[in-house]
Formats: sequence, structure tokens, C-alpha cells
Amino acid sequence: MADNCIFCKIIRGEIPAAKLFEDDELLAFRDINPAAPLHFLVIPKKHISGPAAVTTEDEQLIGRMLRIGGEIAKKEGFDDFRVVFNNGAKAGQTVFHIHMHILGGRDLNWPPG
Ligand code: AMP
Repeated sequence: MADNCIFCKIIRGEIPAAKLFEDDELLAFRDINPAAPLHFLVIPKKHISGPAAVTTEDEQLIGRMLRIGGEIAKKEGFDDFRVVFNNGAKAGQTVFHIHMHILGGRDLNWPPG
């Protein structure tokens, strides 16, 4: 946990979030500024600053993020969705606690902007 990390604050219950899933390792919640009709984030409770900071010991955790995220999307009624991890400010990362975006419910262009 990191004291000033906004996502650690959500994990600790200090900031509210629209939670979709929670267990001892992971938390999923709706993005506060949705970029699509379906837009939620899956985060590990372990504070990892971003994709480039993932280590071999995190591999199973990161894999679970993908499985749980896909199950939530399906439960929400979306078979087609995009999975995004941003790494670094130039790639659009604004919160430095690793998070997986899942977006769906509209046509999504490629390449992304
Ligand atoms: P990124 O730009 O990849 O770092 O994504 C960070 C995401 O976190 C953005 O889509 C924000 O809208 C979202 N976000 C920031 N603060 C909150 C919050 N308190 N609750 C839910 N989503 C948030």
C-alpha cells in the first residue's frame, strides 16, 4: 500500500468507488470518467506502479486480473471489449498503481489515439 496513491485509498475504503468485484487480491470498480458505456478498472491490492514494474512473482496476479475482468464484462452483458494497460505518462498513465481498463459498448477504433 502507498499512502498517497488514490487507488490504495479506494482499496482502504477512504475514497468511495462503484465496486464490481473484490477479493483478497483484486478489486474492480467503474471508471469515474467512463470513456465507453462499459468502462471499469481491475487493480491488484498490491501496490505495483505500472506494467513495467511487474515482476515474476506477480505473474499469476496479473493473469487473474485478465480472467476476472473478462468474467465481469460477460456478467455485465458485453462479449466484445478492449483491454488496456497504460505504462508511463506519455502513454496516458495518470494513476501510478497498475490498472487494467476494460472498455466496451461502442465501436472502438484501431489504432487507438
Ligand atoms: P490511466 O490514465 O490509464 O492512468 O487511467 C486512470 C483511470 O482512473 C482514468 O480513466 C480515471 O478516470 C480513473 N480514475 C481516477 N480516479 C478514479 C476514482 N476515484 N474512481 C474511479 N476511477 C478513477
